[in-house]
Amino acid sequence: MRKKIVAGNWKMNKTMEEALILASEVANMVKDEVSTDVTVVIASPSLYLSTLQKYAEPIANLSIAAQNCHQKASGAFTGEISAPMLKSIGVEYVILGHSERRQYFAETNEQLAEKVNIALENGLTPIFCCGESLEQREAGGFLEFVASQLTDSLFHLSAEDFAKVVIAYEPIWAIGTGVTASSAQAQEMHAYLRGHLATKYGQEIADNASILYGGSCNEKNAPELFACADIDGGLIGGASLKSREFTNIAKSY
Ligand code: PEP
Repeated sequence: MRKKIVAGNWKMNKTMEEALILASEVANMVKDEVSTDVTVVIASPSLYLSTLQKYAEPIANLSIAAQNCHQKASGAFTGEISAPMLKSIGVEYVILGHSERRQYFAETNEQLAEKVNIALENGLTPIFCCGESLEQREAGGFLEFVASQLTDSLFHLSAEDFAKVVIAYEPIWAIGTGVTASSAQAQEMHAYLRGHLATKYGQEIADNASILYGGSCNEKNAPELFACADIDGGLIGGASLKSREFTNIAKSY
């Protein structure tokens, strides 16, 4: 059975004081209210991860994540954070290839393939983001475009390594816009991607891959999205900044 995951991407938000309040509220709510079948992940700014780890550690289904890592293990890369550093403070997941990183930091599929490698080498679980722009959706061929992001950044992996990766489908036109993909649109893409994974890794590995949906997911639309056969949870941006709403999303299962 594949893992159900609800991950909150805080992006570049919250001061330390605010982060402590939000994380402690989420931790308490997850402990008391969220089924242990659902893994909840908090991707705070890296600066806070070490401190927030103490909230996650005692709760079996709560983990922390970084929002990015560098593709090299160490070296002269001022301002960057490496996968071994993240591992050394107890981080379990790392978001890679978010569309904002692709857009504002020019991350390419090739660079992301290296980031996926270094994350896996250091025992981190990549949450690998993919998704099309509105222009790509309107032009057609968007299913193939998103599948090609997986091919280019993941398909060099052995089956054993691929099985450790979580995928997040995030249509760019739905991120932070308040426009959500309909459950039919999301399910169409998720089923297509699962089929694409099966062509490379076989049906069993494809069936076990967690594919999350991201893009203006909130407590109102999450139940319908998460009820879709191929949607295994969510990557949540704006709504992860409110503890009650984020927990309610995790409780949608
Ligand atoms: C995201 O950036 O990963 C995201 C899904 O954002 P939002 O939920 O705010 O659309």
